[in-house]
Amino acid sequence: MSDVTPGGGPPVHPPSPPPFRLYDTRSRDVREFQPVRPGQVSLYVCGMTVYDEIHVGHARAMMVFDTFVRYLRFRGWNVTFARNFTDVDDKIIERAAKRGEPAVELANRYIANFHRDTDSLGLIRPDLEPRVTETIAPIVAMIDELVAAGHAYPADGSVWYSVSSFPAYGALSNQSPDELRSADPEGGKREAADFALWKAAKPGEPAWESPWGPGRPGWHIECSAMVRHYLGTTIDIHGGGLDLVFPHHENEIAQSEAANHAPFAHCWMHNGLLTMSGGAKMSKSLGNVVNVEDILLEFPPEALRLYYLQCHYRSPLPWDPASALPEALGMLARLYEAVEVGSRMGGLGPAEAAAAELGPDALEVLQLGRSFQRHFLAALDEDFNTAKALGHAFELARAINRLSNHKRANARGGTVVAPALDALRLLGPALGLLAGTPATFAEEVKARRLPALGLTSEKVEAMLADRTGARMRKDWAEADRLRAELDGAGIVVMDRADGSDWRVRV
Ligand SMILES: [Zn+2]
Repeated sequence: MSDVTPGGGPPVHPPSPPPFRLYDTRSRDVREFQPVRPGQVSLYVCGMTVYDEIHVGHARAMMVFDTFVRYLRFRGWNVTFARNFTDVDDKIIERAAKRGEPAVELANRYIANFHRDTDSLGLIRPDLEPRVTETIAPIVAMIDELVAAGHAYPADGSVWYSVSSFPAYGALSNQSPDELRSADPEGGKREAADFALWKAAKPGEPAWESPWGPGRPGWHIECSAMVRHYLGTTIDIHGGGLDLVFPHHENEIAQSEAANHAPFAHCWMHNGLLTMSGGAKMSKSLGNVVNVEDILLEFPPEALRLYYLQCHYRSPLPWDPASALPEALGMLARLYEAVEVGSRMGGLGPAEAAAAELGPDALEVLQLGRSFQRHFLAALDEDFNTAKALGHAFELARAINRLSNHKRANARGGTVVAPALDALRLLGPALGLLAGTPATFAEEVKARRLPALGLTSEKVEAMLADRTGARMRKDWAEADRLRAELDGAGIVVMDRADGSDWRVRV
């Protein structure tokens, strides 16, 4: 590309996004991100095997990478984001057989439900969502190459990857090949650690033609083939849950690097898992699954986003069904409250003079507001530390809410709070938080929390009207009783000069 513009003007360089650092599972350290191509990020994340609804454990990985992509774009990176669907697999085939329906129909239904839930969560759709059943030819081609190169061997209509043919096997998960054993139950393989690239068809199963007979891909090969087919031999970042490091990602490296003779991914980014109290995993068999669809009936999607992002993406995240989302909703409400009370502050004139006049709480808001962007971006640029970045936002919100308790601040604090309000506006484009207004948030909370409390807007309005009537008759006992009843039901009544308003307590 030429640096000289056709008109003979000064050289034009594309603006280069600022550097950031990221933990790489393979090298086990935080290092500066070096793109394969300047300004570009190719990101592949392992997606879902579609045979059930998504639960809040799955959604953590979706949310982490959604937010990471938003942040990279916000910083000026040109991101290509791919996430696959495993739409043919033992579990899908088993469940479809049990229900007496074709596997492809079951998979398609759960893909539709996945999109329903991730759209409701406010997740951006990846640029590419490849499916196994639509990527068979590139998969077969890659297996063929691995067989020709001596990294794989056919046996009884299946094809196995020979782990001992790839000396670097185990580097990602930090294990030596001798310790490794595969869970694949099929026979025909030469060594215990070998894994299936192609599975010979069993009667009644979905199958495709191949040089080794009819069958279907093993699980691991799809990601290697999809990455190469859609993004190229070497990508910038490969992502997924920590539970995929071994064997899945170890196998992806072995397949891709043996077939491509090139590094597979420059950086391996793994999110920590959701943990139930007592350390158990969220799983159907344990009966502790909380589906995204159900949680969104009771809580706004931003509360779920905040719940995930208040924890560093690599840390385990405890899930307490009773407190996780009520607490996150409360934290979100404090942020919106800061925007609301800050926006109401009036007054012109130089911020320094106003802050000096209003006292230490005002000086703090001014100072935190002005330094926020630097601290916020520094936290995110250092291994995408959303917990630390949000910590700065909560500190700022607390300071604004404290300042609003000063009567004079509401008339004089406008210029003091202005940098802080600008600062909080960064949360929308950077992290997908505070994307609404205090008013839309209040409506959203009403819409989701009232049914959860067994109430309707009409019922609350009717009780408020009764209370107004009691106040007009000067029946204070009845007015107080109604207020206490509303309070007990989770409704906060705010009496103003021009009447009463209400909100759901969070
Ligand atoms: Zn994968």
